[in-house]
Amino acid sequence: MAPPADNAFSWSFARHSLFDECPRAYWFAYRGAWGGWDPAAPARARVLYTLKRLSTRQQWAGSHVHDAIAEVLLHRRDAMPELLRATWAEEAVSAMREEFRLSRAGAWRTDPVKHPGLYEHAYSLDVPPEAWAAERDRVASCLAGFLDHGRFDFLRTLPQSDLLAVEPKKASFELPGGLAVRAIPDVVFRDADGIAVWDWKSGGDAAALAKHRPQLAVYALFVRGTFGEIPRASAINPATDEAAEFSFTAEDLDETAAWIVSDAEDILFPAEEAAAEGADEESAYDFTNDPAACARCVFAAVCPKMRQTPPQEGTP
Ligand code: SF4
Repeated sequence: MAPPADNAFSWSFARHSLFDECPRAYWFAYRGAWGGWDPAAPARARVLYTLKRLSTRQQWAGSHVHDAIAEVLLHRRDAMPELLRATWAEEAVSAMREEFRLSRAGAWRTDPVKHPGLYEHAYSLDVPPEAWAAERDRVASCLAGFLDHGRFDFLRTLPQSDLLAVEPKKASFELPGGLAVRAIPDVVFRDADGIAVWDWKSGGDAAALAKHRPQLAVYALFVRGTFGEIPRASAINPATDEAAEFSFTAEDLDETAAWIVSDAEDILFPAEEAAAEGADEESAYDFTNDPAACARCVFAAVCPKMRQTPPQEGTP
């Protein structure tokens, strides 16, 4: 099975990570699910899209932190921190409660665009209430930390023209040779020391945050290509304000660009080889051998490796 021809390839760190974890999961998410947002799409694409939209509770909590901070930076930068302190976390938690309720009720089965569901509900996992409460508390502590540790105070006093980008949804750039790369840094700003990019990571200490250097290098490449300057880069846990700081040379970023091109070739190779041989594209993408990846995979319900009963249309 091959997806429609209008599914043009662009590289992103998320694509890299998923292909690295499991090539077949990559195919499900970026090839098989293509077009599945349309209720009139073929049943398989619809199911794969529905599954692709599921999040684990940890991903869900992380996206609430990102969305809440982006919303405040984009639309409420003049809000009094004291007012935000009183209402902001409760707003986010209230939205989470509603999404939890809808997910548990299965709203995502009929409208996965409007109501992305939770993996734990889709797969009927037995999650104790305290585990859900921990994610709620993580979101609240990240938002409180963003205010208490001074990050908001700093960003709110920047001139608007120096707040260069906040989660730019359409952010992409082209490498020499024409490869499109999507990169969505959380915040890019200019201060007296030049340009900086910050990326929120809603968990982890400084040592754990250091592992995000490759992703921040991609963001630095985006900033260099968009604003003409190599930025300082930081992965920050807003709850604790712990941060991993990264600096990059021009050579570092050139190496990152070369790595992206090579990685894109690896990702595209199975599809190109299948097309050249007239073989099935999906089958050209291998299954992972890592049982831990399968144990947390949103596509387990449809993956032949798992040998489970196929779902009904639009449902896992
Ligand atoms: S269940 Fe395992 S092999 Fe199948 S797509 Fe998911 S991670 Fe890959």
